[in-house]
Amino acid sequence: MKLADLAPEAPPIGSPFDLRLSMSEKVDETDLKSAVEGGEWGFIHSFTTGSAVDGPGVRLVAWLTGCQFRCVFCHNPDTWKLTNGMPVPLKRAIEVVNQYRNSLRTMKGGLTISGGEPLLQYPFLSKLFPEIKRLGVHTALETNGFFGERLTDVDLASIDLIMLGLKAIEPDLHKRLTGMDNKPVREFARRLATKKHPVWIRFVVVPGWTDNMDEIGRMADFAAELGNVQRVDVLPFHQMGRFKWEKLGMEYKMRDAEPPSAEMIEQALARFRAAGLTVV
Ligand code: SF4
Repeated sequence: MKLADLAPEAPPIGSPFDLRLSMSEKVDETDLKSAVEGGEWGFIHSFTTGSAVDGPGVRLVAWLTGCQFRCVFCHNPDTWKLTNGMPVPLKRAIEVVNQYRNSLRTMKGGLTISGGEPLLQYPFLSKLFPEIKRLGVHTALETNGFFGERLTDVDLASIDLIMLGLKAIEPDLHKRLTGMDNKPVREFARRLATKKHPVWIRFVVVPGWTDNMDEIGRMADFAAELGNVQRVDVLPFHQMGRFKWEKLGMEYKMRDAEPPSAEMIEQALARFRAAGLTVV
Protein backbone atom coordinates (compact mmCIF):
# COMPACT_ATOMS: atom_id res chain seq x y z
CA MET A 1 0.00 0.00 0.00
CA LYS A 2 1.23 3.51 -0.82
CA LEU A 3 1.38 6.19 1.84
CA ALA A 4 -0.85 8.53 -0.12
CA ASP A 5 -3.64 5.94 0.11
CA LEU A 6 -3.54 6.26 3.90
CA ALA A 7 -3.32 10.04 4.13
CA PRO A 8 -5.84 11.15 6.75
CA GLU A 9 -8.00 14.22 6.44
CA ALA A 10 -6.65 15.45 9.77
CA PRO A 11 -3.98 14.30 12.21
CA PRO A 12 -5.32 12.20 15.10
CA ILE A 13 -6.41 14.45 17.98
CA GLY A 14 -5.97 12.65 21.28
CA SER A 15 -3.73 11.96 24.20
CA PRO A 16 -0.38 10.17 24.36
CA PHE A 17 -2.17 7.82 26.74
CA ASP A 18 -4.42 6.59 23.93
CA LEU A 19 -3.16 3.23 22.71
CA ARG A 20 -2.42 3.33 18.98
CA LEU A 21 -1.19 0.39 16.97
CA SER A 22 -0.34 -0.34 13.35
CA MET A 23 -1.60 2.97 11.95
CA SER A 24 0.74 2.69 8.96
CA GLU A 25 1.99 -0.88 9.16
CA LYS A 26 0.61 -1.83 5.76
CA VAL A 27 2.58 0.83 3.93
CA ASP A 28 5.13 -0.45 1.50
CA GLU A 29 8.54 -0.50 3.24
CA THR A 30 10.45 1.46 0.60
CA ASP A 31 7.68 4.06 0.50
CA LEU A 32 7.91 4.35 4.29
CA LYS A 33 11.70 4.68 4.23
CA SER A 34 11.67 7.40 1.60
CA ALA A 35 8.88 9.26 3.47
CA VAL A 36 10.98 9.35 6.64
CA GLU A 37 14.19 10.28 4.83
CA GLY A 38 12.51 12.94 2.71
CA GLY A 39 10.73 14.61 5.63
CA GLU A 40 7.55 15.23 3.63
CA TRP A 41 5.59 13.03 6.02
CA GLY A 42 5.53 12.83 9.79
CA PHE A 43 4.40 9.77 11.73
CA ILE A 44 2.26 11.07 14.54
CA HIS A 45 0.78 9.14 17.44
CA SER A 46 -1.55 11.98 18.44
CA PHE A 47 -2.09 15.71 18.60
CA THR A 48 -3.07 17.17 21.97
CA THR A 49 -4.66 20.61 22.13
CA GLY A 50 -4.66 22.87 25.18
CA SER A 51 -1.77 21.30 27.12
CA ALA A 52 -0.51 23.42 30.03
CA VAL A 53 2.33 21.05 31.01
CA ASP A 54 4.41 20.62 27.86
CA GLY A 55 6.22 23.95 27.60
CA PRO A 56 5.39 27.59 28.29
CA GLY A 57 1.76 28.73 28.09
CA VAL A 58 -0.97 26.66 26.51
CA ARG A 59 0.30 24.34 23.81
CA LEU A 60 -0.47 22.20 20.87
CA VAL A 61 1.56 19.00 21.23
CA ALA A 62 2.39 16.53 18.47
CA TRP A 63 3.49 13.14 19.80
CA LEU A 64 5.65 11.47 17.18
CA THR A 65 6.27 7.75 16.91
CA GLY A 66 9.62 5.97 16.91
CA CYS A 67 12.04 5.72 19.84
CA GLN A 68 15.43 4.07 20.17
CA PHE A 69 15.37 4.05 24.00
CA ARG A 70 13.70 1.26 25.93
CA CYS A 71 13.08 2.97 29.26
CA VAL A 72 11.85 0.45 31.82
CA PHE A 73 9.34 3.02 33.10
CA CYS A 74 8.10 4.24 29.68
CA HIS A 75 4.49 5.43 29.83
CA ASN A 76 3.95 5.12 26.09
CA PRO A 77 5.65 2.00 24.70
CA ASP A 78 3.27 2.05 21.71
CA THR A 79 5.21 5.12 20.50
CA TRP A 80 8.40 3.07 20.11
CA LYS A 81 7.40 1.72 16.72
CA LEU A 82 7.27 4.25 13.88
CA THR A 83 4.43 2.42 12.13
CA ASN A 84 2.12 2.85 15.13
CA GLY A 85 1.90 6.50 14.04
CA MET A 86 -0.51 8.01 11.54
CA PRO A 87 1.29 9.34 8.45
CA VAL A 88 0.59 13.07 8.17
CA PRO A 89 1.81 15.14 5.23
CA LEU A 90 4.08 18.05 6.24
CA LYS A 91 1.72 20.50 4.52
CA ARG A 92 -1.24 19.23 6.54
CA ALA A 93 0.71 19.47 9.82
CA ILE A 94 1.53 23.12 9.06
CA GLU A 95 -2.14 23.82 8.24
CA VAL A 96 -3.23 22.36 11.58
CA VAL A 97 -0.80 24.54 13.51
CA ASN A 98 -1.91 27.54 11.48
CA GLN A 99 -5.53 26.91 12.54
CA TYR A 100 -4.50 27.28 16.17
CA ARG A 101 -2.00 30.08 15.62
CA ASN A 102 -3.96 32.98 17.07
CA SER A 103 -5.12 31.12 20.17
CA LEU A 104 -1.62 29.79 20.83
CA ARG A 105 -0.21 33.31 20.65
CA THR A 106 -2.96 34.73 22.86
CA MET A 107 -2.30 32.04 25.46
CA LYS A 108 1.47 32.63 25.28
CA GLY A 109 1.93 29.04 24.15
CA GLY A 110 3.07 27.37 20.98
CA LEU A 111 3.82 24.04 19.37
CA THR A 112 5.69 21.29 21.21
CA ILE A 113 6.96 18.26 19.35
CA SER A 114 7.35 15.27 21.63
CA GLY A 115 7.24 11.49 21.32
CA GLY A 116 8.50 8.78 21.27
CA GLU A 117 11.77 10.36 20.23
CA PRO A 118 11.13 13.04 17.60
CA LEU A 119 14.72 13.20 16.33
CA LEU A 120 14.25 9.80 14.71
CA GLN A 121 12.15 11.85 12.27
CA TYR A 122 14.76 14.57 11.92
CA PRO A 123 14.08 15.40 8.22
CA PHE A 124 10.42 16.09 9.05
CA LEU A 125 11.37 18.30 12.01
CA SER A 126 13.97 20.23 10.05
CA LYS A 127 11.24 21.19 7.57
CA LEU A 128 8.43 21.70 10.06
CA PHE A 129 10.05 23.96 12.68
CA PRO A 130 11.12 26.78 10.29
CA GLU A 131 7.60 26.85 8.82
CA ILE A 132 6.06 27.12 12.29
CA LYS A 133 8.48 29.90 13.23
CA ARG A 134 7.41 31.72 10.06
CA LEU A 135 3.83 31.60 11.42
CA GLY A 136 5.09 33.45 14.51
CA VAL A 137 4.40 30.48 16.79
CA HIS A 138 6.75 29.55 19.67
CA THR A 139 8.39 26.15 19.13
CA ALA A 140 9.63 23.53 21.58
CA LEU A 141 11.20 20.11 21.09
CA GLU A 142 11.05 17.46 23.78
CA THR A 143 13.82 14.93 23.21
CA ASN A 144 15.90 12.32 24.98
CA GLY A 145 18.89 14.08 23.39
CA PHE A 146 20.64 11.00 22.02
CA PHE A 147 20.47 12.23 18.42
CA GLY A 148 20.96 15.89 19.33
CA GLU A 149 23.94 16.10 16.96
CA ARG A 150 21.48 15.75 14.08
CA LEU A 151 20.27 19.29 14.80
CA THR A 152 22.40 21.86 13.03
CA ASP A 153 22.83 25.37 14.39
CA VAL A 154 20.38 26.47 11.68
CA ASP A 155 17.81 23.96 12.98
CA LEU A 156 18.32 25.19 16.53
CA ALA A 157 17.58 28.73 15.44
CA SER A 158 14.00 27.63 14.65
CA ILE A 159 13.50 25.81 17.99
CA ASP A 160 12.86 28.27 20.83
CA LEU A 161 13.13 25.73 23.63
CA ILE A 162 14.67 22.30 24.03
CA MET A 163 13.00 20.16 26.68
CA LEU A 164 15.70 17.64 27.43
CA GLY A 165 14.57 14.42 29.09
CA LEU A 166 17.54 13.41 31.21
CA LYS A 167 16.82 9.87 32.39
CA ALA A 168 19.95 9.41 34.54
CA ILE A 169 23.43 10.90 34.82
CA GLU A 170 25.43 7.94 36.10
CA PRO A 171 26.35 6.14 32.82
CA ASP A 172 25.78 2.59 34.00
CA LEU A 173 22.42 3.46 35.55
CA HIS A 174 21.37 5.20 32.32
CA LYS A 175 22.32 2.14 30.28
CA ARG A 176 20.33 -0.20 32.50
CA LEU A 177 17.37 2.17 32.66
CA THR A 178 17.10 3.01 28.94
CA GLY A 179 19.22 0.44 27.11
CA MET A 180 21.37 3.26 25.68
CA ASP A 181 24.56 5.15 26.49
CA ASN A 182 24.13 8.71 27.82
CA LYS A 183 27.40 10.15 26.50
CA PRO A 184 25.72 11.65 23.39
CA VAL A 185 22.99 13.07 25.63
CA ARG A 186 25.47 14.81 27.92
CA GLU A 187 27.40 16.09 24.89
CA PHE A 188 24.22 17.55 23.43
CA ALA A 189 23.40 19.22 26.75
CA ARG A 190 26.88 20.78 26.81
CA ARG A 191 26.59 21.97 23.22
CA LEU A 192 23.30 23.69 24.05
CA ALA A 193 24.98 25.24 27.08
CA THR A 194 27.82 26.61 24.96
CA LYS A 195 25.25 28.17 22.65
CA LYS A 196 23.22 29.43 25.66
CA HIS A 197 20.16 27.84 24.07
CA PRO A 198 17.11 27.84 26.38
CA VAL A 199 16.63 24.42 27.97
CA TRP A 200 14.17 22.85 30.36
CA ILE A 201 15.22 19.56 31.89
CA ARG A 202 12.67 16.83 32.53
CA PHE A 203 13.62 14.21 35.07
CA VAL A 204 11.42 11.28 36.09
CA VAL A 205 11.83 10.00 39.65
CA VAL A 206 11.64 6.25 39.07
CA PRO A 207 11.25 4.08 42.18
CA GLY A 208 14.19 1.72 42.65
CA TRP A 209 16.15 3.44 39.86
CA THR A 210 16.47 7.23 40.19
CA ASP A 211 14.82 7.84 43.56
CA ASN A 212 18.08 8.09 45.47
CA MET A 213 19.81 11.26 46.55
CA ASP A 214 23.17 10.25 45.01
CA GLU A 215 21.70 10.19 41.52
CA ILE A 216 19.45 13.19 42.14
CA GLY A 217 22.48 15.13 43.42
CA ARG A 218 24.49 14.21 40.31
CA MET A 219 21.57 15.29 38.10
CA ALA A 220 21.18 18.61 39.95
CA ASP A 221 24.90 19.43 39.82
CA PHE A 222 25.12 18.55 36.12
CA ALA A 223 22.08 20.71 35.29
CA ALA A 224 23.33 23.62 37.38
CA GLU A 225 26.79 23.60 35.80
CA LEU A 226 25.29 23.98 32.33
CA GLY A 227 24.15 27.54 33.06
CA ASN A 228 21.37 27.61 30.43
CA VAL A 229 18.72 25.53 32.23
CA GLN A 230 15.68 27.73 32.79
CA ARG A 231 13.79 25.17 34.84
CA VAL A 232 13.68 21.54 35.85
CA ASP A 233 10.47 19.51 35.78
CA VAL A 234 10.68 16.79 38.42
CA LEU A 235 8.10 14.22 37.35
CA PRO A 236 6.99 11.40 39.62
CA PHE A 237 6.73 7.98 37.95
CA HIS A 238 3.09 6.91 37.52
CA GLN A 239 1.25 3.85 36.32
CA MET A 240 -0.91 5.41 33.57
CA GLY A 241 1.00 3.45 30.93
CA ARG A 242 0.77 0.03 32.57
CA PHE A 243 -2.20 -1.07 30.47
CA LYS A 244 -0.19 -0.45 27.30
CA TRP A 245 2.57 -2.85 28.36
CA GLU A 246 -0.08 -5.42 29.16
CA LYS A 247 -1.94 -4.94 25.84
CA LEU A 248 1.32 -5.15 23.93
CA GLY A 249 2.22 -8.37 25.77
CA MET A 250 5.54 -6.92 26.92
CA GLU A 251 7.30 -7.66 30.17
CA TYR A 252 6.84 -4.62 32.42
CA LYS A 253 9.47 -4.46 35.15
CA MET A 254 7.61 -1.62 36.90
CA ARG A 255 4.30 -3.50 37.09
CA ASP A 256 4.08 -3.44 40.88
CA ALA A 257 5.98 -0.22 41.54
CA GLU A 258 4.32 2.46 43.62
CA PRO A 259 4.74 6.12 42.62
CA PRO A 260 7.37 7.94 44.71
CA SER A 261 6.12 9.49 47.94
CA ALA A 262 5.43 13.21 48.29
CA GLU A 263 8.37 13.37 50.73
CA MET A 264 10.71 11.83 48.15
CA ILE A 265 9.64 14.35 45.52
CA GLU A 266 10.03 17.20 48.00
CA GLN A 267 13.60 16.05 48.79
CA ALA A 268 14.39 15.93 45.08
CA LEU A 269 12.97 19.41 44.53
CA ALA A 270 14.95 20.73 47.47
CA ARG A 271 18.18 19.29 46.06
CA PHE A 272 17.61 20.95 42.67
CA ARG A 273 16.77 24.24 44.38
CA ALA A 274 19.92 23.99 46.51
CA ALA A 275 21.91 23.73 43.27
CA GLY A 276 20.40 27.09 42.25
CA LEU A 277 17.83 25.74 39.76
CA THR A 278 14.19 26.65 39.29
CA VAL A 279 12.06 23.57 39.75
CA VAL A 280 8.43 22.69 39.16
S1 SF4 B 1 12.71 8.08 25.70
FE1 SF4 B 1 10.55 8.47 26.23
S2 SF4 B 1 9.35 7.36 24.67
FE2 SF4 B 1 11.44 6.59 24.56
S3 SF4 B 1 11.43 4.76 25.86
FE3 SF4 B 1 12.11 6.49 27.13
S4 SF4 B 1 10.27 7.29 28.11
FE4 SF4 B 1 9.61 5.98 26.37
